[in-house]
Amino acid sequence: MADHKTLCVYCAASDRVDEGYRVLAHTLGSEAARRGIRLVFGAGNIGLMGALAKGALAQNGHVTGIIPEHLERRELGHKGISEYIVVDSMHSRKRAMFDRSDAFAILPGGLGTLDEAFEVITWRQLGLHEKPIFLVNGNGFWDPLLALVRHLRTEGFLHQQPESLFKVVNGVEELLEDVSRAPRPAASAPSDRL
Ligand code: AMP
Repeated sequence: MADHKTLCVYCAASDRVDEGYRVLAHTLGSEAARRGIRLVFGAGNIGLMGALAKGALAQNGHVTGIIPEHLERRELGHKGISEYIVVDSMHSRKRAMFDRSDAFAILPGGLGTLDEAFEVITWRQLGLHEKPIFLVNGNGFWDPLLALVRHLRTEGFLHQQPESLFKVVNGVEELLEDVSRAPRPAASAPSDRL
């Protein structure tokens, strides 16, 4: 059987956003599926999460969703996906998403997306894993965040080059090319450190 890569996608739960953002997530879902890349996400059938799953399922992609029990109703847990996993807490969700994935994509999102993104970026900063992380910056959505990261660096609060922690990509095609090419990550840190 082919050796599929698994990409974890962090993205918005909000539906009150410009249609272009949903199209971006839907395109990522369908293009990942077309290339045989499996997806892991937060299992919500709302916002960009829902669009991502819809795009992937339309192309018979493999989609794993992981959701804490207390959010199943609020985020409309999507039971029509390939694997629907219910966990007990936010921490277990992030940990299960991390463990199952070879790489991470950060799509437009709100504070929840930022929390998930910074957790995996800071774990990498601490040398706890070497899985690639991609900031998908279509239409410059993340430019304010990139300006803040540069500010952290010039003011001496960030010692590593941001490029050693995550890569900025401009769209789905560049993201999936990079994910396909990336070597399979070495085993991450002993689980009791995360
Ligand atoms: P948002 O970017 O705010 O739309 O949230 C995107 C996803 O992140 C949603 O599924 C939220 O449940 C999830 N989320 C929000 N806060 C956290 C957190 N502290 N840890 C893990 N996931 C979170």
